[in-house]
Amino acid sequence: MSEKTTCLIVGSGPAGYTAAIYAARAGMNPILYTGGQPGGQLTITTDVENYPGYPDGIQGPQMMMDFEQQARRFGTDVRYGLATKVDFSASGLHTVIIDNQHPIESPAVIIATGASAKWLGLESEQRLNGHGVSACAVCDGFFFRNQDVAIVGGGDTACEEASYLAKLCKKVSMIVRRDTLRASQIMQKRVMSLPNIEILWNTETEEILGDKEVTGARIKNLKTGQSSTLDITGFFVAIGHEPNTAIFKGQIDMDPTGYIQTIKGTTKTNISGVFACGDAQDNIYRQAITAAGTGCMAALDAERYLAEQGLH
Ligand code: FAD
Ligand code: NAP
Repeated sequence: MSEKTTCLIVGSGPAGYTAAIYAARAGMNPILYTGGQPGGQLTITTDVENYPGYPDGIQGPQMMMDFEQQARRFGTDVRYGLATKVDFSASGLHTVIIDNQHPIESPAVIIATGASAKWLGLESEQRLNGHGVSACAVCDGFFFRNQDVAIVGGGDTACEEASYLAKLCKKVSMIVRRDTLRASQIMQKRVMSLPNIEILWNTETEEILGDKEVTGARIKNLKTGQSSTLDITGFFVAIGHEPNTAIFKGQIDMDPTGYIQTIKGTTKTNISGVFACGDAQDNIYRQAITAAGTGCMAALDAERYLAEQGLH
């Protein structure tokens, strides 16, 4: 037997919880499923200093507990579980299966499943994550003002983030595994015009060094086979992101890289009653505040949709 609800939110990052706060306060009795990372990406970082309302900054995990508490306060039914399959129906009642066994039917579904940064896969990268290792220059660059940092990757993201870091840091070493950048010409030119960015071609990272904090990186020139040490305090990984949207493939419109497509200026997808917010539909801004903003939009869009259908 399917459980029935009016508003189902999939994901518990800033987008999902903000959608839940608005939906709950509008009396939509939302059910929210947290997925495998309750609280989302910010639970793997330390200080968050750019989210308005926290003048002294806040630890990422604490901030997400605050979000959850606020969503629960207005009656959101927060549940632990993973959406494993969906059936978005043109007729208007959508089915989401939780943990391969529990089907829920809802006329409004808000997708807030976020995205995940790709990592190199080094043990030291995991161990020092949040202690000098980061996948977000805009979020964490500020902590490395006037210091020497490295960034891995040769795409547009790496170039954009290297340029951003170059404004804050003393020196930025860009670790590029080939002898060419994948980035667009304009981004390549920008990076090459900045005097404090050094590109280390044909180079891979063997290990990030440091006990409790990053103190350096051991790198290897793939042409000569020679290893050397970079003295740095910040290590940024910018080798791409993956939206967590695999279960929606074939069900809603996405761009070629898997980001959900929404109708400009809204969170509506091509399926009536299915809304998308946060990083799952945004490969440009990827910030907690923008995720929260679109979470709010999704709840308002869902409320209007339900009202039009006479369901709320
Ligand atoms: P996410 O936070 O990615 O959350 C996605 C949620 O969906 C998770 O709860 C996950 O469990 C759930 N989920 C996924 N798949 C399923 C499924 N199948 N079923 C159910 N649930 C599912 N931004 C800032 O503004 N400031 C910062 O200082 C900052 N620092 C960062 C530091 C790091 C290390 C990282 C990685 C990111 C940082 N960001 C920062 C970016 C910010 O975390 C993201 O932009 C934001 O979390 C995106 O929110 P979201 O709600 O879209 O998704
Ligand atoms: P991307 O284009 O896939 O580039 C990833 C980069 O990381 C490549 O240089 C790749 O090297 C490198 N890389 C991948 N795995 C690696 C590993 N294990 N070790 C070392 N290096 C590794 O990803 P992106 O830069 O995030 O861009 C994604 C999309 O968003 C692109 O379409 C991009 O144009 C777009 N974007 C646009 C802008 C903009 O226009 N301002 C900004 C950001 C992103 P190889 O080249 O050797 O594969």
